[in-house]
Amino acid sequence: MTDTSTAAAQAVTATLAPNTPRRFYRGGERVLAFRGLAVPDGFDGHRPEDWVGSTARLFAEGGGGVTTLDDGVELPDALASDPEGWFGADHVARFGGDPNLLTKLLDSGERLPVHSHPSREFAAAHLDCDHGKTEAWIVLVADPGATVWVGFRDELSDDDLAGLVDAQDEQLLAALNPIHVSAGDAVLVPAGQPHAIGEGVLILELQEPTDFSVMLEHARFGLELDHAFLGLDRPLALRSVDHGPVDAARLASLRSRWSDVEGSGPALPDEASAYFRAEVVRPVTGDVTVDAAYAAVVVVRGAGTLTTRHGAREVREGDVLLVPHGAGEVTVGGDVTLIRCMPPAP
Ligand SMILES: [Zn+2]
Repeated sequence: MTDTSTAAAQAVTATLAPNTPRRFYRGGERVLAFRGLAVPDGFDGHRPEDWVGSTARLFAEGGGGVTTLDDGVELPDALASDPEGWFGADHVARFGGDPNLLTKLLDSGERLPVHSHPSREFAAAHLDCDHGKTEAWIVLVADPGATVWVGFRDELSDDDLAGLVDAQDEQLLAALNPIHVSAGDAVLVPAGQPHAIGEGVLILELQEPTDFSVMLEHARFGLELDHAFLGLDRPLALRSVDHGPVDAARLASLRSRWSDVEGSGPALPDEASAYFRAEVVRPVTGDVTVDAAYAAVVVVRGAGTLTTRHGAREVREGDVLLVPHGAGEVTVGGDVTLIRCMPPAP
């Protein structure tokens, strides 16, 4: 065994600590509860997101977000020291040492503003970045009646969209498709689609690793206009927004039920796989073994055992692990459900 694989091996034995940068919106108690942690004294109520295995930084709001491992090394430095150990040769050949993925736990303590994210093409043309931001929501906890919104119901002209953004009122949300969600649901949100998350859900979120957002709704959240439109002219920023319509059939194609998976299988619709993969592992009729892969592993229900070539460890709901490709095949046993959040297949 080489030194580098030893370094990678340590990651599988370490639960990632919460990494909760301050955000402009409220939340965080559901993240702490899921992680099995008490709400700390003096909690500011603005820690709604836990950035898991993150190499990305906030676009604004202080620029935090990068994961620091237990040994004090920032994740980008750890990954750079042993790309093949972390990602495997095939991933490195295609993507270099970039994980191509940002994973978050997100607790909406209030409804989030209506916003959208640019596509890869728009980001490459106007933001000097190869990643856009397609994202997906894996609903872990939802209050009764919890709602999310995706895509305009009707086709909007440029003037229609500009008018809704000018008004900064409830018409913007009302123009979107509402989706009632419960624990076990998953929703893919393609880049460009306007969306919002209602109050009272804890989601596991997979995203392309950027923090580019066009904040269509910004006034009620007190956001700076420069922040709202990525520093771009507003008409240009609004060109990144899909003007609709997203009809019922399209909406259905963006949804799945991750909690129906037995053994192992995808949590998200196939269309997600060009951007990231979320694999449910749930032993039902005996242990389940899945291939080696770099993965942020989130234990979403129950308790069990996770075994790699480096040994076995007990895991339970709320645990978050970063498993390197070099750990080899992963065998999961017990009354447990975990979700492996992974980059696109190389
Ligand atoms: Zn978003």
